[in-house]
Amino acid sequence: SGDSGDSGGETYTVATDNNFVPFEFLDEETGEMTGFDMDLIRAIAEEAGFEVEIESMKFDGVVTGMQQGKYDIGIAGMTITDERAETIDFSDPYYDAGLMLAVHADNTDIESEDDLAGKVVATRSGTTSETYLQDNHPDAEVETFPGIVEAYMDLEAGRVDAVMYDVPNVQYYVANDAENLKTVGDVLQGEQYGIAFPKDSELVEDVNEALETLIDNGGYDDIYEEWFGE
Ligand code: GLN
Repeated sequence: SGDSGDSGGETYTVATDNNFVPFEFLDEETGEMTGFDMDLIRAIAEEAGFEVEIESMKFDGVVTGMQQGKYDIGIAGMTITDERAETIDFSDPYYDAGLMLAVHADNTDIESEDDLAGKVVATRSGTTSETYLQDNHPDAEVETFPGIVEAYMDLEAGRVDAVMYDVPNVQYYVANDAENLKTVGDVLQGEQYGIAFPKDSELVEDVNEALETLIDNGGYDDIYEEWFGE
């Protein structure tokens, strides 16, 4: 880190997931990472008076990178879990999510998670969905991919029976390919996203304060509206 930019503040490295729509993904036109999380962390940085340098990677790289103290901040639609909180510090929750199932639009035999025995369910490695499937669906055949895009592609192509993933991400894919995809069942597990820090980082408090200010002054709502508004 060091001085840079107009704020005169420190520059902090921010680890993010390279593809988790609509929270973080590459804007092909600008070559920059964009999405809800990217707007949020940039707004927090501006509020708190520091600069950010975004580095994108596979989701499990964000988790291990934060555990190893390789980055100052991690924002990646990362669910706050007790297990992660043993090795990573989290900000206050900033987004309510959960898990959900998607199947092919033609599928008639999976109506809820009760129908997963013997089915091939795709998800992403190192995520809460993988843990949920291991814990609750030992009779399902779980296929994990390093990126979630591949899981949806296999579902569209009929190579897997279902995808289990985060509600806002599942809804995004279904909204963009309603011809081939549909959601089934209820929200399976409520979750909340938090911004990650190496253990005992002094940044946690500054980021929480900035987040609270943005929630109070409407800055958070503007970003929410931009990515999730009707
Ligand atoms: N919320 C999920 C988790 O924390 C996955 C997030 C993602 O793919 N970026 O495990």
